[in-house]
Amino acid sequence: MLCLSGHDPTGGAGLQADAEAIAAQGGHAVSVITAQTVQNTDNVLEVRSTDWQWLDQAIECLMADCDIRCVKLGLIGSVEQVPVIARRLRQLRVPVVLDPVLRAGGGAELSSQSLQALLLEQLLPLTTVFTPNAAEARRLVPGARDLSSCAESLLQHGCDYVLITGGDEPGAVVSNTLYASAAAPVRFEWPRLAETFHGAGCTLASAIAAQLALGHKAGLAVERAQTYTQHSLRQALRVGQGRRIPGRVRHRV
Ligand code: PLP
Repeated sequence: MLCLSGHDPTGGAGLQADAEAIAAQGGHAVSVITAQTVQNTDNVLEVRSTDWQWLDQAIECLMADCDIRCVKLGLIGSVEQVPVIARRLRQLRVPVVLDPVLRAGGGAELSSQSLQALLLEQLLPLTTVFTPNAAEARRLVPGARDLSSCAESLLQHGCDYVLITGGDEPGAVVSNTLYASAAAPVRFEWPRLAETFHGAGCTLASAIAAQLALGHKAGLAVERAQTYTQHSLRQALRVGQGRRIPGRVRHRV
């Protein structure tokens, strides 16, 4: 599994979330950091993007050495990184899970308009499962009537599946819906837990990627990954004073 993600020093989101969620499914993450961040469990304060040539060199080096069965994309550090990633994905030809990290849960902006446009144009056509939350889906398809029209428009960009998650929506039930072009939408409902979490989206997307790498079809991968994420949220850890982070592995201290 190759993860291209940002580093979150709290360990709640980003690369650490990916590596833990993937290990918990029985997979191994090899990774290249797309950006470093200054952040706490509440919000992101600063982002410093990895130079695109460095990113490319690191991906190439891993591709020559490792058996990569799936790619998980998280925070993209700059517009320059997008064509580099797209080119490497075309060479790899493995399932891709793309989790758009447009804005931090704490409100910090993590993407520009031009980055969002490039993501739709260059990365969605190479994506197997795209995992926006409801706010991200609406933001990427401005003016859409409802979430199902958002999904329709996102599918038209060329990804195979869109999973719109509802953790950021109001209501006693969290409703996540999996859309595909040629099939009826599949809705999953989960009880809403009392708190908000930091890193839930990264956990879910990485678990989906690991399940795909194990050879499961997208429907089953998405279902299993949600069960795992729900379980991780139920045993969330308090590592700071802001939001709790998913308990993705068994902790003793
Ligand atoms: N930092 C990094 C590196 C991330 O990848 C993400 C989300 O994917 C965040 C911060 C924001 O996480 P959250 O919205 O759960 O706070």
